Amino acid sequence: MNNEFSLIINGEKVAGSAGSFDVINPATEAVVTTAPLASVEQLDNAVDSANTAFKTWQHSSDEERSTAMHRIADRIEANADELAEIIVMEQGKPMFLAQAEVGGAVAWTRYNADLEIPVKIIEDSEHKRIEAHHKPLGVVGSITPWNWPLMIAIWHIMPALRTGNTVVCKPSEYTPLNTLRLVEIINEELPAGVVNVVTGHGEIGGAMSAHEGISKIVFTGSTPTGQRIMSSAAGNLKRLTLELGGNDAAIIMPDVNVDAIAEGIFQTSFLNMGQTCACLKRLYVHDDIYDQLTTKLAEIAQAQVVGDGMLAGTTFGPVQNANQFRIVSELVEDAKQQRAIILCGGEALAGNGFFYPPTIVTNISDGTRLVDEEQFGPVLPVIRFTDVEDAVARANSASVGLGGSVWSADIKQAQKIASKLECGTAWINGHAEVLPHAPFGGCKMSGFGVEFGEEGMLEYTLMQVLNINK
Ligand code: NAD
Repeated sequence: MNNEFSLIINGEKVAGSAGSFDVINPATEAVVTTAPLASVEQLDNAVDSANTAFKTWQHSSDEERSTAMHRIADRIEANADELAEIIVMEQGKPMFLAQAEVGGAVAWTRYNADLEIPVKIIEDSEHKRIEAHHKPLGVVGSITPWNWPLMIAIWHIMPALRTGNTVVCKPSEYTPLNTLRLVEIINEELPAGVVNVVTGHGEIGGAMSAHEGISKIVFTGSTPTGQRIMSSAAGNLKRLTLELGGNDAAIIMPDVNVDAIAEGIFQTSFLNMGQTCACLKRLYVHDDIYDQLTTKLAEIAQAQVVGDGMLAGTTFGPVQNANQFRIVSELVEDAKQQRAIILCGGEALAGNGFFYPPTIVTNISDGTRLVDEEQFGPVLPVIRFTDVEDAVARANSASVGLGGSVWSADIKQAQKIASKLECGTAWINGHAEVLPHAPFGGCKMSGFGVEFGEEGMLEYTLMQVLNINK
């Protein structure tokens, strides 16, 4: 891994004029390297360069943009090994997951490159024709979290580019390196200023949200930060896409084949050590199969190899940072106080690194912090139910509504139950699966707007209606 990381402003590599900050490897707690700390003046420069680039980029043809995006996908593939290594070093996930993240970044780039921007004919009569066109917004500010840093940056950048916008990215201060390298790679294939990156803490994100030169903010992160962004975006009425926290519930009906579904439930609860917005975070299991399923889940959890993501054989990495590690530990301690049963895990591993083993908690119910708050880590509370309407009501009692799922052998019945869940995506016999062509977003305090598919791409456009009197 090349240890040189710079901001990219107007196609130039520049050092942070506010200094630098350490990036920590969560598996060792050692410093990986330092990242540049951008000043507010550098943010202004990045926004200016993106506005200048927009004057030309917005008029580039569909074909030019699509071709450039496929070339970017080729460049990401060519640099896949280094990008995956950077992700493991700063994010902590095992290598196979980092490689999957890079693969996902390529898939989403190519999918967006091939999307058509629709033109809608609203009326075409003898004396009148009305057409609706989608035009770019201007400069898009992308603010990203630390859990899937490369993939989420791509989710923001690619639909923005496809529709003729220019971009300023601000990755999480915990995982800035992969986005710095990504934007460097992207800049090899694009005119200067089309994609810029500034790194730093929340202050830079706050300055972006308030910046008059930015037309839209796309934000993925926590609900409280989303609320702050919404307030500071009011000045110039920025458009917003807010992909915020979740506390996804799954309802497991008594007719399931426990052996067949246990692995899927485990993987979708603990994907990325549970640090995935749409991970299954509350499991409501029918009383008839509760003991059988929880025993099976504990077996799978105990078979995980917890360790440094760089080591071959590791299936389960550390929690990404000290703060999240503290939150997870606190929620489990609180559950213990409430007389919950820790079926497996439940204690941080001794030594360096933020290692917390996959933890299954039973004998717990709504009203405890572990059930009511987003744990965003490797802990799954499993709650009993007997009446499905009651389970639906408990699932819907959360203030957030990102995803939800129903697991049953009876698809028709499952569909009826799923339609009652208050969430942006309801899965049946699955969870946490996101796809480039399936719109994804939340309701309630999980935010608004969708990503992915044509609908997600069009969030980066404004509609201009052409009203022609013949
Ligand atoms: P976070 O909100 O702490 O930080 C996210 C980003 O916002 C970082 O880049 C941070 O520097 C920046 N930021 C902090 N304060 C800011 C401010 N005042 N103004 C503007 N930007 C600011 O979130 P996190 O801890 O990095 O990520 C975890 C959270 O993200 C979880 O709640 C998770 O559910 C959520 N998430 C949601 C989705 C989704 O698609 N809905 C996906 C991934 C993660």
